[in-house]
Amino acid sequence: MTNKPRDVLQMFRQALAAQMEMGLHELIVPKLSSVEIELKSQADIITGEIIRNQEVTMTAKKENRLSQSAMPLFQEPSYNSLEEHYQAICNCQLCPLGATRTNFVYGVGDPKADLMFIGEAPGAEEDRQGKPFVGKAGQLLDRILASIMMKREEVYICNILKCRPPGNRDPQPDEMARCFPHLREQVRLIKPKLICALGRIAAQALLQTTTPLGKLRNHWHEFEGVPLWITYHPAALLRFQSYKRDTWEDMKILKARYEALK
Ligand code: SF4
Repeated sequence: MTNKPRDVLQMFRQALAAQMEMGLHELIVPKLSSVEIELKSQADIITGEIIRNQEVTMTAKKENRLSQSAMPLFQEPSYNSLEEHYQAICNCQLCPLGATRTNFVYGVGDPKADLMFIGEAPGAEEDRQGKPFVGKAGQLLDRILASIMMKREEVYICNILKCRPPGNRDPQPDEMARCFPHLREQVRLIKPKLICALGRIAAQALLQTTTPLGKLRNHWHEFEGVPLWITYHPAALLRFQSYKRDTWEDMKILKARYEALK
């Protein structure tokens, strides 16, 4: 994230707007009479948020150290780059979804991102464009990122499955099993420091568990030695507005740990 005041201010405004869209009504809105006051207010609010998150951040730093000390070394990747990996698998037919997809949906974002978001599978718009999270749920993910002053270009976004299940049905276990090595290779190549699973199916697939989402949230887990956080899938937020509050709390904790990496 740039440190230029104007850019920071713009991100701050976008964050406020995104928070308001998420229905968060306890926002601290600065009374603005000049750019200087606005900037000061912005700094105060960010500082206030940092203080509120201080305990979480300090805990996160401690957990991160513990996690790093326990983190296994990444194995030598089978491919030298995401591009090489993409070229090798973009015509994959390992499961029946290869025959029904319009486009293979690999992933987008910073190939060296510290933070990786993983959803379950492409939807109709993603299948049409060949990019993950570009439909309504993807637009909401952008606003969720904006609410914590982040952009999709800073992170990496992909799914467990690279091809759309027909009719947006849930991915089948055999499809996920066949596609999982693709994801594992992406993680090895990107080497994120944090992963956030979006939704039950992604979380359960990454953790190889059937534990309900409600019991998986609010705890740090690990995938391939990388700290794993879990929140709702944006598509669930579109259906159930009441999930927005919990998602906001999840994102604040995720952002605090992300900041603690620096
Ligand atoms: S969903 Fe995964 S395993 Fe199935 S065809 Fe697509 S890339 Fe291959």
